[in-house]
Amino acid sequence: MKKLIALLLAFMIVLTACGSSADTAGGYTMAEVTLLEENIPDDNYGNYYEIFVYSFCDSDGDGIGDFNGVTSKLDYIRDLGYTGIWFMPITEGYSYHKYDVTDYYAVDSQFGTMEDFENLVSEAHARGIKIIIDLVVNHTSSEHPWFKSAIQSAWDGDTSGEYYDYYNFSDTALDGYSYYDGIYYEARFTYSMPDLNLDSENVRAEIENIIEFWIGKGVDGFRLDACTSFYTGDYTKSAEFCAWLTDVAQEYNPDAFVVGEVWESDSIVKTYYENAPETSFFAFSVSQQEGYINMTFSNAYPANYFWTYANTVYKTANSGESIAAPFLDNHDTGRIAGSVGRDENKVKFAYGMLSLLNGTTFTYYGDEIGMVGSGDDPNKRIAMLWDNSGENLTDNPPGTTSASYAFDGVEEQYADETSILNYYKRCNNIRNAFPEIARGEMKMTYYSDMDVLIFSKTWEDSTITIVVNFSTEEKTVEMDLGELQAELAVEGNATYENGVLTLPMYAFAVFK
Ligand code: CA
Repeated sequence: MKKLIALLLAFMIVLTACGSSADTAGGYTMAEVTLLEENIPDDNYGNYYEIFVYSFCDSDGDGIGDFNGVTSKLDYIRDLGYTGIWFMPITEGYSYHKYDVTDYYAVDSQFGTMEDFENLVSEAHARGIKIIIDLVVNHTSSEHPWFKSAIQSAWDGDTSGEYYDYYNFSDTALDGYSYYDGIYYEARFTYSMPDLNLDSENVRAEIENIIEFWIGKGVDGFRLDACTSFYTGDYTKSAEFCAWLTDVAQEYNPDAFVVGEVWESDSIVKTYYENAPETSFFAFSVSQQEGYINMTFSNAYPANYFWTYANTVYKTANSGESIAAPFLDNHDTGRIAGSVGRDENKVKFAYGMLSLLNGTTFTYYGDEIGMVGSGDDPNKRIAMLWDNSGENLTDNPPGTTSASYAFDGVEEQYADETSILNYYKRCNNIRNAFPEIARGEMKMTYYSDMDVLIFSKTWEDSTITIVVNFSTEEKTVEMDLGELQAELAVEGNATYENGVLTLPMYAFAVFK
């Protein structure tokens, strides 16, 4: 009998994990949101959702998010219009964030088993969601068996030791090197993350095995960590290494999607695209407080400003030959809701602007409910707020010094059609309904009002026209724009009657 009660309890905990109990999609009672029919080509453009498993959803009650927790939220993620997930490192790591790998061939036991992960991948695929995982090959943990063996060889003066050439050692102090008991070794980030010797044939063979291994587990691609540190100071050589990684991935899966982290200006990101055209690179210029999108709010000529950077993002990605990867924030940056001063209209419209850019967009988990976080890294990675009760949260990562929420949780926002969440959902839906937005060639139509932008996107002989009002005032545009297909305003609705388009503040409309 005791056993039965325990079983029943375990079953109930699974059912109520992360607060999912309602019988609607995503597990929540939903407000009426009119959605358009999707038209999603089978390519690597898409709307990706970045997840830190640790802080997302805990299925077994130990306080740490896990693969089964994510699996229970796949309906939610797909319902929001996301077609891909980027997982921050899932391999066994030394720190809570796992960017210091100790075993490339094992999932971290905090997150569950390999079986759980494979189940997650197959459940994601069944819903039309692709999975890419962080590939951290610039460095390992100093606790990785390779490094322990290599530094022992270095101490022993045994340069033929099995793992000696996996890392870069020196007898003398060098820039970017750490010191340990008479030996210097390259460690660009910190002493506990020694850089791999990427010129080593053995390391390259190992990386090939790692990529083959994970593609064998069903992943659809990789996010490349620290692409400027591959060959520090040499962007071209680092980019060539990105190209090699993508080649290897596409050898095992011709459709593999690979996106790299180059936290640099557009011109440096362009160098990467030129040398690695099959790889995507995050558009950091778009992101964060000082990035293009947040700066649009204070620009005196926002239509021209938006148009200029939308073109820059497009041209940086080899004018659409490669896939751009714009985003608003990630696990290393302050969250966008904080950057725009927790102003709900700006939180929404920032995502609206992002959603009009070419490429594959990335959304950091929790941004869809306006989560905030800045300062110490763990503060940017706090528990996903599934509902206002706060009962279904994971623990916050170790080292969190500040954790607060600016807006309602998922459950409450789902039920409110005017919420940030439902705005995000409609943005994604519009991108999923009009493939021209992510893929199209752009052309501007002259218009005299500096707060209003009219532009078209053409893809495969289909052209749509988009009209955007960047101001906080209502605007009217008298023009033959075709048929109104979709509109989205932060408050109210846009209308198009008798050739007159009325756009409320921070709104856009799509015509065909
Ligand atoms: Ca757990």
